[in-house]
Amino acid sequence: MPRQDSDGSAARAAALRMLDAVLRRDETLDHAAGFATRQLPPADAGLALAIAGETLRRLTDLDALIDRKMRQPLPGDAKARMVLRLALAQKIGLGTPDHAVVATALPLVESGPRRLVHGVLSNLLKSDLSSDEPPRLPAAVEARWDEAWGHDVTLAARRAIGHRPPLDLSFKAQPEDYKGATLAPRHRRLEDAGRVDHLPGFVDGEWWVQDLAASLPARLIPADAERVLDACAAPGGKTMQLAAAGHQVTALDRAESRLKRLRANLNRTRLEAELITANLNEWRPDALYDAVLLDAPCSASGTFRRHPEVLYRARPRIIAEMAAVQADLLDSAALMVKPGGSLVYAVCSLEPQEGEDAIRAFLDRFPRFSIAPAPSPAPGIEPSKEGWLRILPGMLEKQGGLDGFFTCRLVHEG
Ligand code: SAM
Repeated sequence: MPRQDSDGSAARAAALRMLDAVLRRDETLDHAAGFATRQLPPADAGLALAIAGETLRRLTDLDALIDRKMRQPLPGDAKARMVLRLALAQKIGLGTPDHAVVATALPLVESGPRRLVHGVLSNLLKSDLSSDEPPRLPAAVEARWDEAWGHDVTLAARRAIGHRPPLDLSFKAQPEDYKGATLAPRHRRLEDAGRVDHLPGFVDGEWWVQDLAASLPARLIPADAERVLDACAAPGGKTMQLAAAGHQVTALDRAESRLKRLRANLNRTRLEAELITANLNEWRPDALYDAVLLDAPCSASGTFRRHPEVLYRARPRIIAEMAAVQADLLDSAALMVKPGGSLVYAVCSLEPQEGEDAIRAFLDRFPRFSIAPAPSPAPGIEPSKEGWLRILPGMLEKQGGLDGFFTCRLVHEG
């Protein structure tokens, strides 16, 4: 837990604002944290983020504990419930002592709700709150993933959300004596890495942070593809991989602010790409590309280990909306590929609608494309029988796991 240098009440108030923004206004935790912790010293900001993150990781279990003690149902968005969730997450997930849990929770609520929080919290803290079970996911997510992938995968996802994931670094060139485990070429995996910008090689731009799963799509681009379009490029993890592999890269994204981050990343790593701010569906290239990489916007449900709020944001309606966006982007990207060239599609999603179904529907619309079977990109990661790479919770679990992901290379047969 980050060290704090105050009584911690400002950190708890910020955590409450974050939880409210995520659960009631559908914001991402990073975005909510940016606003909620603006005025806080770094230690308090870190504590606030740790509390809000731990709360979202365990929300289903926390609510079950709270509901068991309620005589009358407490609405999901009631402030008293939000405060109880934060308090219990500190007790269960961060090991905060009982007196500090109570003393920092009560000032967050007033009058009737304060008496309620006091009563329920005191009651809960008297009971044994420890559990050998991994955290539950939201019931709707468990049901959806049980159906799509089977119960063992859902169980693996529950185990995964209970742990801090390791840090994966992608290197510009094969590192020789860098610490950490190697699971694929140009990759190192670190546990408890601490501050990223303090790690060796950061200032010199030798590497960038990128989950190993997110590095797979760029690995599918053929080495001999000269001109490559990174069609949804920012903040640029895949652009940097492609540039480092020697391709001539055009990096396109419609979000100017995200392209600024991409430019900063290229500057730090001293890699080159042509940058274009445009909507892919409206932009027309001067010439077709040898390969196009489409890392499409998606529900991001595969990133639940680092961004537990995706489990609440990725509702069926959002997934269906994203699938429609992905279909449009796939159609646009397909028209930019040379005959004989490749289109690599990717999403950091655990929803088949955004992965497998998107590709099946695309192949119906574009019969001139076919799947190029992927090689095994790393020991323990095998392609599916269809030839794509589907990364699920439970894969490489002993080595620290991977984000959920889907990627597939399609060839334009001309
Ligand atoms: N490839 C990036 C990386 O590895 O760092 C991550 C890309 S992110 C999953 C999806 C990106 O698509 C966002 O940066 C978003 O701004 C961009 N995007 C969404 N719709 C777009 C469109 N119609 N045209 C261009 N870019 C779009």
